[in-house]
Amino acid sequence: MARIFSGIKPTGHLTLGNYLGAIQRWVEVDQHRAEALFCVVDLHALTVEHDPARVRRLSRQAATLFLAAGLRPDLCTLFVQSHVDEHTRLAYLLECTATDGEMRRMIQYKEKSARERATGGSVRLSLLTYPALMAADILAYGADEVPVGDDQAQHVELTRDLAVRFNQRYGATFTVPRAVLPPVAARVMDLQDPASKMGKSHAETSGIVYLLDEADVVRKKIMRAVTDSGSEVRYDREAQPGVANLLEILAACRGGEGKPEELAAGYSSYGALKRDVADAVVELLRPLRERHAELCADPEYVDEVLRAGAERARALARPRVDTAYRAIGLLPPV
Ligand code: ATP
Ligand code: MG
Repeated sequence: MARIFSGIKPTGHLTLGNYLGAIQRWVEVDQHRAEALFCVVDLHALTVEHDPARVRRLSRQAATLFLAAGLRPDLCTLFVQSHVDEHTRLAYLLECTATDGEMRRMIQYKEKSARERATGGSVRLSLLTYPALMAADILAYGADEVPVGDDQAQHVELTRDLAVRFNQRYGATFTVPRAVLPPVAARVMDLQDPASKMGKSHAETSGIVYLLDEADVVRKKIMRAVTDSGSEVRYDREAQPGVANLLEILAACRGGEGKPEELAAGYSSYGALKRDVADAVVELLRPLRERHAELCADPEYVDEVLRAGAERARALARPRVDTAYRAIGLLPPV
């Protein structure tokens, strides 16, 4: 059976991009067909300026939303990264496997460090080494598949390189994983800026649909989405990125029934398309928000899921990480 690892950072409220790019597939496909681990990767949230209380609150909220979206603790393992020490233990060995040049080449490092500098902040060293920790998240579990949005593909590629290099130098230790991208909506774009990815940590929020936005807020954001000059509805990511984004969102909300280019043929105006996208997103999010409210009323249940998940994750990761410690030359404790 395939083994899957995937995670989301508690750097902001979860967005429609996180849902269509990752969570939807975890719920509908991954948890049913594989040994799957889904993680709130809270250590990664410390790589940029952060407020401790907010990270704690968002971690809990993300875990609650995973359950609200339909992840089932009887089918998959759901946990918080910092509850399982094996991630940081292994990350150090992978920092000793990676080079500083390959870390500096990561697009996300370039973008996020530029953003931090532009706002007068300093760049944390962990932002540079983040991909080693992400590689540890994946390799500790022997995951062979990593369902992610398009923006994480480069980090998974680096994880593969590190696994291969470690295995060659120190003996077969890690499974070499591969990224699995969703067929549509692998990169949901910001509704106000279709040239940039919808991201939960972005400061400008008017183009971002959050999973917990009220229905009327969702509707307003979609109706105000930037479209392109011209009026024809075509699926053309280059020439009409705003419209293409809406068509992809619609296709993904409808579970892949109809490709974006086929859906385009059904519209002669941007307004009609936006109304249908708004209806589809509101309907998609309604049950999730209802279930989230129910779960918030039962915090002990969420605690118990996370406790049991961490215990199971620890048991899976420890033997492989111990093997890596021995393989790289560290003396086993006596
Ligand atoms: P941040 O702005 O802090 O990087 P993010 O919204 O990019 O937040 P991550 O925690 O980095 O979220 O990523 C969680 C998962 O969601 C990853 O699999 C990522 O590829 C996916 N994802 C994030 N944004 C999008 C998007 N706009 N479209 C599709 N998938 C996305
Ligand atoms: Mg991201």
